[in-house]
Amino acid sequence: MAARLRRLILLFALAAAVPLVGLVPIAAGQAPAAQAAPARHVDRSVLMRDVATLGAAAFEGRGTGTPGGLGARQWLVEQFRSVGLQPAHTSDYLQPFTVTARDLRAIPPGGRPFRSTHEAANVVGRLSGRNPGGRIIAVTAHYDHLGVREGVLYPGADDNASGVAVLLAAARHFRHNPPQHGFVFAALDAEELGLHGATTLVRSAVLPSERVALNVNLDMVSRNDRNEIYAAGPYHSPWLTPILLDVQTRAAVRILFGHDRPDSRSRGLEDWTRSSDHAAFHEAGIPFVYFGVEDHADYHKPTDNPDRIDPRFFGDVADMIVEALRTFDARLP
Ligand SMILES: [Zn+2]
Repeated sequence: MAARLRRLILLFALAAAVPLVGLVPIAAGQAPAAQAAPARHVDRSVLMRDVATLGAAAFEGRGTGTPGGLGARQWLVEQFRSVGLQPAHTSDYLQPFTVTARDLRAIPPGGRPFRSTHEAANVVGRLSGRNPGGRIIAVTAHYDHLGVREGVLYPGADDNASGVAVLLAAARHFRHNPPQHGFVFAALDAEELGLHGATTLVRSAVLPSERVALNVNLDMVSRNDRNEIYAAGPYHSPWLTPILLDVQTRAAVRILFGHDRPDSRSRGLEDWTRSSDHAAFHEAGIPFVYFGVEDHADYHKPTDNPDRIDPRFFGDVADMIVEALRTFDARLP
């Protein structure tokens, strides 16, 4: 009896353990590999063309208000127009603003940084959803970078030509696949000087922030040799977690959770809640998901070149982000 009972208990324990075994890969912060065939949405040759264009020397590292920054801005306006986005601002896609900030690029040797004023502008376009007047999903990515410092060019391919290239890919996708909710696409300026473009957008009438249900911010999304990318934000908005786990089943990259908790409870991971443009939305009480890779050796270096981007990883990330946006659009609570 006892033996049978022991066997029964053992069987029970085993039966109880089997489902767990299936789930164990979901270690805290990690999600299982795709079960369904990974979703494909993005034209990867256009994606690579866009990141190479923005990361090219012609745009001189896209310093805010510099000739290179203005060139990138004009190129973005042409892209928004050719995609067929509606201007979010009355006449065109530009939301100009002025930034007075400590300009680290202009420190004379041994000197102290001094405040300088920059003519900046966000590039903002929108797509109305199938239920006009409803809630909005705001997709953001900063297009500015460090520019040229003491004669050295900082191309900023991963930071953040990559995020802008995915934003353009998403805009093209939804232009041809009308979403349920309205979408605002914003290529933001002056992030490197202090998230000024995002703050300007959130506090302005260009974005009716009371209607924004979710901000999806893209900053550094093209490089990781562990096939991983973080989705920071669910700690503040837990309803995002099941949606991202669902997206994971149709993605070829691993979505990690983390980098969004107060340092004390984050297993030593830096808290990115205020590290990029989503911070302005978070401050305004708007839920956010920030997609970004772990910092790499070329972060804020002159070596952050387009030719260091892995087209396979970057393409898989772009497809995952568009799939995530489709799923958020379909499943907003
Ligand atoms: Zn950045």
